[in-house]
Amino acid sequence: MRTSVAIIGAGPAGLLLARLLQRSGIESVVLESRSREHVEHRQRAGILEHGTVEVLRACGAGDRLDREGLVHEGIELRFGGTGHRIDLAALTGGRRVVVYAQTEVVRDLVALRVESGAPLLFEAEALAVEDVDSERPRVRYRHDGAERLLEADYVVGADGFHGIARRCVPAGRIRTRERTYPFAWLGVLADVAPSTDELIYAQHERGFALHSMRGPEVSRLYLQVPPETDLADWPDARIWEELDLRLAVDGGWRLRRGPITDRSVTPMRSFVAEPLRCGRLLLAGDAAHIVPPTGAKGLNLAVADVALLARALDAALLRGDPGALESYSDTALRRVWRAEDFSCAMTAMLHADPDGDEFSRRLQRSRLDYAVSSTAAATALAENYAGLPSDAVP
Ligand SMILES: Cc1cc2nc3c(=O)[nH]c(=O)nc-3n(C[C@H](O)[C@H](O)[C@H](O)COP(=O)(O)OP(=O)(O)OC[C@H]3O[C@@H](n4cnc5c(N)ncnc54)[C@H](O)[C@@H]3O)c2cc1C
Repeated sequence: MRTSVAIIGAGPAGLLLARLLQRSGIESVVLESRSREHVEHRQRAGILEHGTVEVLRACGAGDRLDREGLVHEGIELRFGGTGHRIDLAALTGGRRVVVYAQTEVVRDLVALRVESGAPLLFEAEALAVEDVDSERPRVRYRHDGAERLLEADYVVGADGFHGIARRCVPAGRIRTRERTYPFAWLGVLADVAPSTDELIYAQHERGFALHSMRGPEVSRLYLQVPPETDLADWPDARIWEELDLRLAVDGGWRLRRGPITDRSVTPMRSFVAEPLRCGRLLLAGDAAHIVPPTGAKGLNLAVADVALLARALDAALLRGDPGALESYSDTALRRVWRAEDFSCAMTAMLHADPDGDEFSRRLQRSRLDYAVSSTAAATALAENYAGLPSDAVP
């Protein structure tokens, strides 16, 4: 099989890239190792920056998002028994975020692709990317029990952190930087109306907690836990009790409880592979970088990467202008490193450090007090959280 752009992975990065290319009249084939059912039900991110929403709307994937997404103008930082609102919209000249689950973004993009009849192969596992320095790189993949080859002008590795694309880059051509954290997030989905209109990020001596939501009737809640946590040790009652403790606030606020329908433990990691290009293999999304989820940046970075990449491939393939493709890695990495810094800073400000001493706890409290009392500090937090426009990324 031959195509213009071979895309490995049908997560948000791969599916959106395929859609953007299709709108420009560029052919692509998407290979996805898992089933459609699996990718459409995987619980992950849920906060869309303004720029992400714009890209989805522009490619025709904004209808349900506009109907069902919840527009949020602020977030709450909760610590010391008090809640403090960060007014994102007021501090950023009107930028808002939209709560709309990644699973829904994926469903919308899969539906558009399937409806268009363009190739999207589920249960097609990429095994290797070959000849990345030639004009016709190839993906070797397994589908329907047979090994096959997909030849393309370009191959895009949008296959997530554990995918194969990054590992197919010849030795020494890519460098990785990584930081791990001494904690993970236990995330649950509960069939109960959220107990808050806006997300609550709670710092507590027992550990961080986050109250998010996936819709008017579904709450998404997280607890900081040790990385080696076994879900079997966390029956529903323990989860709710711990959330009650960490989200407690002076006054009459109460956390509503409901049936837990999904639970998982996610390790926290910061990771960047650079450059994002090796010959005709390009990396995008989690295949190239990971952020701890505290800053709600992972999905948004994946979208920003492919929005840039789609324009660059358009210029290279349709107008014979390789300039944007040559600068893709440097341009994308500027946003990536800004998000890495913000996500690290939010994580440090809000999590209990198991190795921390009283000095570090006092520093953390001072940082929180500053974030909610100084307009300059709150603005820095708000503009990073709501997402910087492209021309404002340093
Ligand atoms: C458990 C979890 C929870 C998360 N929670 C949050 C959150 O709360 N907030 C937040 O901002 N971010 C969160 N993230 C991060 C966010 O979901 C990611 O940044 C986002 O999914 C990146 O999209 P992507 O398309 O780059 O990668 P992915 O969504 O990982 O998609 C990659 C795709 O490639 C496929 N694939 C892998 N290997 C192959 C192969 N060999 N051949 C073919 N296909 C392959 C995978 O099956 C997958 O469908 C979370 C991530 C995880 C893993």
